[in-house]
Amino acid sequence: MKFRSFYPPQRTLMGPGPSDVSPRVLAAMARPTIGHLDPAFVTLMEEIKALLQYAFQTKNALTFPVSAPGSAGMETCFVNLVEPGDKVIVCQNGVFGGRMKENVMRCGGVPVMVEDTWGRAVDPGKVEHALKTNPDARILAFVHAETSTGARSDAKLLSDLAHKYGCLTIVDAVTSLGGIPLLVDDWQLDAVYSGTQKCLSCVPGLSPVTFSTRAQEIIRQRKRPAQSWFLDLNLVMSYWGGDGKRTYHHTAPVNTLYALHESLVILHEETLGLVWARHLHYHRALRAGLEAMGLELAVPEDERLPQMNAVRIPEGVDDVLVRAQLLGEYSLEIGAGLGAMAGKIWRIGLMGHTCNARNVLFCLGALEDVLTDLRAPIRHGRALAAARAVLSAAPQPVDDEE
Ligand SMILES: *Cc1c(COP(=O)(O)O)cnc(C)c1O
Repeated sequence: MKFRSFYPPQRTLMGPGPSDVSPRVLAAMARPTIGHLDPAFVTLMEEIKALLQYAFQTKNALTFPVSAPGSAGMETCFVNLVEPGDKVIVCQNGVFGGRMKENVMRCGGVPVMVEDTWGRAVDPGKVEHALKTNPDARILAFVHAETSTGARSDAKLLSDLAHKYGCLTIVDAVTSLGGIPLLVDDWQLDAVYSGTQKCLSCVPGLSPVTFSTRAQEIIRQRKRPAQSWFLDLNLVMSYWGGDGKRTYHHTAPVNTLYALHESLVILHEETLGLVWARHLHYHRALRAGLEAMGLELAVPEDERLPQMNAVRIPEGVDDVLVRAQLLGEYSLEIGAGLGAMAGKIWRIGLMGHTCNARNVLFCLGALEDVLTDLRAPIRHGRALAAARAVLSAAPQPVDDEE
């Protein structure tokens, strides 16, 4: 058997991540590999930390990318902050809250679940009740942007509640970073993790994290070391920490970090305010097109994520067939529903580099064509005009207090 080089098909990625990666980021990744302790690399690491502080809107010194995907960022927060016996209030309104619960249990912690309907925001009233009835809880954990359902929760409000009852917060910001307002310092979030392949539009494989001084203090005072050697922040910081001498902890994914640096430079050039406004603008255009076609968004308007659009699959339409046809004929990837939402919704991502006018029109045209071909009950010939009407207006600035 002869093995040849792999050339992936050219896709348009409008699912739950990865999103399309900018050619600038791919080009950065192809530059020569250097040593992970090379002085030039150490300079790059410092820039990445500063750019991540900008992206997270924080002054936290402990802000860096974990050398593994978003799930490892999640695990980093839990293994470092949760000690055996610790009670953690975990909000679940989709797939990722369930993974938080798993993490708490594997750390020997005791999860107290606050369950909400999938497709809705976390209910602050239920959270406050849980905080009140569990005065010994130490941490509140929640997902800011639930990618599995397209729902956004009020991170500022949940953080205020946690602090009122003396809890730290662990926040999943994998899909929110670089897509919607995320103000780590203003909102006083304590341990926040994200991913590179969603709204940062970098390649998958890194997890930016940031920890408040309160969280750092707790990590320093742990009674026993974290059970994960690789993710133990007290050890990782010998490589990423401070401005001084770097010592080997693990070999950093050098070229992937070039890619992250480039994607953060792109974000910084555009500025966060305009990035948030762009996501909202193209979301509005996509929504107008989908609704003109007679399709419905699954999440109530004020709880919707602009970068992750959950669309109800019309009665009698074959979910798998539609996605296969979009991929086969248009090379367009959209996401399936997960868990309780499987077969009920499609997830159309407008994340980072993917979030532009061309893709909104392309996706609406492709979806209408495929649904027409399958004789789905939709309205024809209206979607593109409806999207165009929104696209012709200027993007509106985003209120970052929402
Ligand atoms: C994608 C995602 C993760 C997991 O990230 P991976 O990079 O796939 O490990 C965690 N939480 C949320 C909300 C996500 O969207």
